[in-house]
Amino acid sequence: MNDPMRRRSKQAGMMLVGLFGLLACAAPAEPSTILVYIHAQDATPPSAAPAAASPTAPPAAPTAALTATPAPPACALETLAPGLHISANGSYTETEDQAAGPMTCRIARDSCAFGLLIRNLDAAILFQDEEAPPHNDEDRRMHPAVLMPLSRLRDLVAAEWRGEARLVVSDAYDALLEHDLNQTDPARKYSLHFEGRSIDLLLSPYDPARMDRLCALAHCAGFDWVHHESTHCHASVRAMSLCAACSGER
Ligand SMILES: [Zn+2]
Repeated sequence: MNDPMRRRSKQAGMMLVGLFGLLACAAPAEPSTILVYIHAQDATPPSAAPAAASPTAPPAAPTAALTATPAPPACALETLAPGLHISANGSYTETEDQAAGPMTCRIARDSCAFGLLIRNLDAAILFQDEEAPPHNDEDRRMHPAVLMPLSRLRDLVAAEWRGEARLVVSDAYDALLEHDLNQTDPARKYSLHFEGRSIDLLLSPYDPARMDRLCALAHCAGFDWVHHESTHCHASVRAMSLCAACSGER
């Protein structure tokens, strides 16, 4: 990488770290060492070695893997039963809107906000990636504020099951509007998945007997709202809308 590219990449990386700092959940007062590897790709490909691009290729997305996280705050929740949800303050009655804030937009692919979603490259997490191209990367795309609690949960799962089970992300950002299936009008579909603030979690190998514990660990990892949806744990974060972060776009 030549110097101008290195500077642009570094500047973009610093912007993303700053954005992450603004958007991420509050960390403990005395965090341990944090290593954040964020590889920002320039919006304009280098002229010397242009990358082959297909017409359907998504725009370059910042990528990230948080390899070490501060220890999460002490958490006494042992399990979360199927059907129950819990907010960060321990309330079992708060709605997702109250705990994580309402959906403010549906992020369209190739939009400005889409470019602010990070693409999680954490090799310790399994991403289901089951959607057909070009949507097969959407399980990895998420709001930057999801990165910290998800990385903490990765560590909590590793400590809990010591290699017997791995954390799986079955859904994250959703451009196909595959959530809120009861709503047939696309213009009225509502889910924080549409702005990358929700994530669906389970374990590999799949084990319903461990789901109650996994949902409790998601709460302990710092997600603002966790719902045990029987087949998976749905977890959400409160964070600034990426649509609002894009000037002139809602
Ligand atoms: Zn979900």
